[in-house]
Amino acid sequence: MRAVAVSLTGAAGEAQLAHQAWPVAAAAMGRLMTTAAMVGSDMKEDVGRITVEVNGGGPLGRVVAEIRPDGSLRARVQHPAVDLPLRADGKLPVGQAVGVDGYFRVMRQDLFGNAYQGQVELQSGEIGEDFLHYLWQSDQVASAVSVGVLVGTEGLVIGAGGVMVQALPGCPKDLVDRVAGQFEQLTQISRRLADGETLESLVQEVLPEPIHWYSQEPLAWRCWCDRERIQDMLKTLPDSDLLDLISDGGAEVTCHFCRTAYHFQTDELESFRKSAST
Ligand SMILES: [Zn+2]
Repeated sequence: MRAVAVSLTGAAGEAQLAHQAWPVAAAAMGRLMTTAAMVGSDMKEDVGRITVEVNGGGPLGRVVAEIRPDGSLRARVQHPAVDLPLRADGKLPVGQAVGVDGYFRVMRQDLFGNAYQGQVELQSGEIGEDFLHYLWQSDQVASAVSVGVLVGTEGLVIGAGGVMVQALPGCPKDLVDRVAGQFEQLTQISRRLADGETLESLVQEVLPEPIHWYSQEPLAWRCWCDRERIQDMLKTLPDSDLLDLISDGGAEVTCHFCRTAYHFQTDELESFRKSAST
């Protein structure tokens, strides 16, 4: 069996701050970033980035998380200021906030810009279940997934992460069933991560034999937007749009992922017009 355990409390907390996200929006981003890290756990060198996206027609709108091979993560949510009452069991109503009328999508983009994508219809909008459904539809491999984000009394993320276990070819059916049974008992992962429990002990709890760690990859909230890329985008604008921006006295472009604002003065915008016309 293959297991992937993810702890990204820090990155999920930074995503929340960057977007000024309310608890349920922060939880959706944190859960989605966890699934992106799981998909990215076997990321090849030639992969540029992996994007995981949900859009279920709920109040959050579109939620996107992306990861690069170096462990850089970023995320965005269309409507970060969503407030819904807690569920009867005290959990954040992520499924209700995401909605179920839509898709769970995974896109791999290589370094040459070619993209490969797969998607499934949302099952519950809870993200973990939807990811599990995606894994089954795309790989037909028996898997178990649990992802979670815990928000403290201040409304800020204090625990985020998850565990995924997958059967490798030739794995006996009774072992798969046993692990699936153990997995059912594995609850409150985010609470346990918040309390300082290690990923090793979480994984060991569901697997019957001692585990061997193959690799450990650092994960961090780190956007890869840069001024040059935005400049290139501005250079492709029609001349009339550039003239509009110049008459507005300059342009400000905000990155949708990290909310960094890039300012462009009128003389810079003038030079983009010239470079476009030559
Ligand atoms: Zn950015």
